[in-house]
Amino acid sequence: MNSPDGAYPKGAAAGRLAVVGDAERLAEEVLWPAALEIDQAPAVPRAVLDQLAAAGLYGIVGPTDAGGSDMDLEAAGRVIEALGGASLATAFVWIQHHSALRAVAAARPALRLQWLEAMCAGEVRSGIAYAALRRPGPPAMRASSTGRPGFVILDGTAPWVTGWGLIDTVYVGAREGDELVWALLDARTAPTLLAEPVRLAAVDSSSTVVLRLERHQVPTERIVAREPYADWRARDGAGLATNGFLAVGVAGRCARLLESEPLLAAVDEARRGLVEPSGPEGVVAARVEASLLALRAATALVVAGGGRSVERTSHAQRLLREAMFLLVFGQTGPIRAAQAARLSAAAPGRAG
Ligand SMILES: Cc1cc2nc3c(=O)[nH]c(=O)nc-3n(C[C@H](O)[C@H](O)[C@H](O)COP(=O)(O)OP(=O)(O)OC[C@H]3O[C@@H](n4cnc5c(N)ncnc54)[C@H](O)[C@@H]3O)c2cc1C
Repeated sequence: MNSPDGAYPKGAAAGRLAVVGDAERLAEEVLWPAALEIDQAPAVPRAVLDQLAAAGLYGIVGPTDAGGSDMDLEAAGRVIEALGGASLATAFVWIQHHSALRAVAAARPALRLQWLEAMCAGEVRSGIAYAALRRPGPPAMRASSTGRPGFVILDGTAPWVTGWGLIDTVYVGAREGDELVWALLDARTAPTLLAEPVRLAAVDSSSTVVLRLERHQVPTERIVAREPYADWRARDGAGLATNGFLAVGVAGRCARLLESEPLLAAVDEARRGLVEPSGPEGVVAARVEASLLALRAATALVVAGGGRSVERTSHAQRLLREAMFLLVFGQTGPIRAAQAARLSAAAPGRAG
């Protein structure tokens, strides 16, 4: 995902640009006009996700030999920003797919052959279930390879899985001692796999559930990878920049609606911060900047709209709820601490 642009043949670069342009058009012409309706729907309409698939957006980080566009962080960020600033619920369901796709792209040939092209085309859509692996204490999801030969047993709870009912597979991480086992499960309930809907104050139509697995048997051909848990934790922080583009999208939308030059300049800066962060601390700083900017811009939009902002038909209330959600989505201990410190600091210039 991070290859320098010069490494691509000219045709591939032009193809990527076209996909970014198509995403921006789709965001403005399809998602934005429907955003309020999608926000209040029971679920993001499948037909809308089909349009993202038809535009090649499920394959933006997939390899070109499997039909993907192999975008770098900057190009993928533009797509995420465009969709996030148009209909966050839609973008949120869609964005889950890409970690699973990247994992399958790096897996053994048999898995790549079975899944990769269909995942790039969005014919197979995936969710993920691994954020709770960051929590300290006993692992929320555990794997055991010592039972029935040819199967791994999964046990535990994934507290957040988005897209249930709209996804075909779910990419699950589970601890087996010091190792992490990654599996691609069918996203279907079963006696050993239960999904409990969660009602949300924002992105409610993202169909987010709590997933409970009880001695769920996974055939070993569905095991995507195994790795030391410490290796994943070491690289996890760097990958967290991607989610920040959703906040840049929300902030950018508010800035455009307000026609505010200072906010537009801050959006440009937040985007640059995510593309060029320096080390894991840089990613934390860029994420905090982006989410606090979304909150500030959405608050300014509510204020500018007066009482009408609180009506259910107002984009302002939706965008402010979304900015609230982006404060906690993809949050880690360091992001949480840095946000809290910024928000609870005394306001500069305030008379004491
Ligand atoms: C609506 C919604 C949908 C989501 N969808 C998905 C999804 O589809 N798939 C998915 O994998 N995730 C999903 N997430 C999870 C998301 O990416 C973040 O992990 C989550 O928002 C963090 O919030 P949490 O309250 O669950 O935090 P926690 O997981 O409890 O903690 C967040 C951070 O704080 C640290 N922390 C927590 N407790 C302690 C402690 N006692 N001591 C020290 N540090 C601690 C952890 O290390 C972690 O880094 C979703 C979240 C939301 C809100």
